[in-house]
Amino acid sequence: MHAESPSARSGTSKFRPGEAVPTGIALLRDPHLNKGTAFSDAERDALGLRGLLPPHVFSESEQEERVLAQVRRGATDLDKYMALSALQERNETLFFRILYRHLDEMMPIVYTPTVGEACQKFGHIYQRPRGLFVSIDDRGRIESVLRNWPVRDVKVIVVTDGARILGLGDLGANGMGIPVGKLALYTACAGIEPRTCLPITLDVGTNNESLLADPMYIGLRRHRADGAEYDEFIEEFVEAVQAVFPSVLLQFEDFANNHAFELLQRYQDRLCCFNDDIQGTASVALAGILASLRITGMRLADHRFLFLGAGEAGIGIADLIVSELVDGGMAADEARKLCWFCDSQGLVVKSRSHLAAHKLPYAHEHAWTDNLLDAVRALRPTALIGVSGQAQSFTGPIVTAMAELNERPMVFALSNPTSKAECTARQAYTWTAGRAIFASGSPFPAVEIEGRTLVPGQGNNSYIFPGVGLGVIASGATRVTEEMFRAAARTLAKETSKAELESGCLYPSLARIRDVSARIACAVAEVAHARDLATVARPHELLPAVKARQYHPEYHRYA
Ligand code: NAD
Repeated sequence: MHAESPSARSGTSKFRPGEAVPTGIALLRDPHLNKGTAFSDAERDALGLRGLLPPHVFSESEQEERVLAQVRRGATDLDKYMALSALQERNETLFFRILYRHLDEMMPIVYTPTVGEACQKFGHIYQRPRGLFVSIDDRGRIESVLRNWPVRDVKVIVVTDGARILGLGDLGANGMGIPVGKLALYTACAGIEPRTCLPITLDVGTNNESLLADPMYIGLRRHRADGAEYDEFIEEFVEAVQAVFPSVLLQFEDFANNHAFELLQRYQDRLCCFNDDIQGTASVALAGILASLRITGMRLADHRFLFLGAGEAGIGIADLIVSELVDGGMAADEARKLCWFCDSQGLVVKSRSHLAAHKLPYAHEHAWTDNLLDAVRALRPTALIGVSGQAQSFTGPIVTAMAELNERPMVFALSNPTSKAECTARQAYTWTAGRAIFASGSPFPAVEIEGRTLVPGQGNNSYIFPGVGLGVIASGATRVTEEMFRAAARTLAKETSKAELESGCLYPSLARIRDVSARIACAVAEVAHARDLATVARPHELLPAVKARQYHPEYHRYA
């Protein structure tokens, strides 16, 4: 049974013009529309709900209080993750209300680190399908698989092939938790309407033997496809996306670095896409570096960066730093010489053989060493950036050497999760007598040192990708460009308040994330308009227009 679509009375309309509203049990089972015990008496009469709900009508805040208590009662973070997932399945508005209002508390549950554990156990905690699974067995019919998705006006797809889930490696089809979690953050941080978000997992097999041996594993029982078989599958998938969702933003997520760089290279000029592990990370790190200039008064060109780790994150950050320096007038060759890398084989130098293509631009003329402390002494960096996944690799002597070389040494320990960080905030501050400008990938608590309270900033990609997505949607951008990620970084760097900088924190409070995302969206949209990449006319005032697009988790009034 269906009722006629009511007119939108407040907030974001959940209906398209002429769309029928389900009634009765179908309405209670529709997570986009369900209000549960908050349906009013008038709505219960008008929509055939009388008797299907307990008699007392609850307010939104009472519902929030009850669900929050249920989530918090979870004995483990995984229990909390499951309680939140179940809520998302039955009442999306309430789910996002809780995420909006308790983002600091809920982000580590819906995303890293808890989502990693959820992916590892995905087959065992599985309850209902979410998103689309496209398997390599679907070759030849991928377009029809995408057409099974019930929503046509999808705006953002996050896709993974499960090959490198966070720092946990190959989790195959279990990787679905990642696109689901990332898209929840698109909504929570930037207000992208949830029904326009589509999580996709590409199942090309897994090389994770314990998953293959697990009877509860949800994916194909085969090893990973590679080479031409993999490339042809991805090509058919991308063509199908273009056919079914022609103006969608496609985000590549948690692909292994042997494919990630290549896919980005192949597709970034063909459709509106980006890779968050490479470009989102780069932008949030560049924002931290630009914010640090506001503390030190230095110029970006005064820095010399030494990276530990030369993968997606490290090379992505260096490429964006170079791009920013080139924009400031420096020659690209000179700019690249300010970025040095150590990987698992030591210092990346010209004389090394068999270097991966993405490292070659940063293989400079220098004597090789496999010792980071020696590299610090020889290269005299102003900034040490850890993106290696190697816990405690920034040792006391290394950080102390940085403090001997620099008045305000920059130490970014970006590896996730917390247990993989190159050093802790406390160590960085202690070894530099509080002089380090520190940022991390996972959150660290404030540190009391020399009578001061220092608050380490978290270089969380969630500061960047939701705002970039909102800007792309608002402008109808046809491509995502490097310039957009630079614009996003510059905007984010300006959003950190003076007080936050004084406490040592390079990033603004998450409490302001929706406003910050809207401003990032404006910067991205400006690039789209300036570069002829926009498909909608530029509104006279961008910020109010962008903010008007943001979804708010408010119930619809049906009667
Ligand atoms: P990746 O697999 O692409 O690259 C890892 C790099 O580390 C490789 O170059 C590898 O050679 C190097 N490495 C491995 N062992 C090493 C050792 N002992 N010494 C020196 N280098 C070593 O992974 P990635 O996507 O670049 O991610 C790397 C880390 O950065 C992860 O821990 C990830 O969680 C973190 N990361 C953080 C953020 C963030 O804070 N916003 C974003 C993305 C990635």
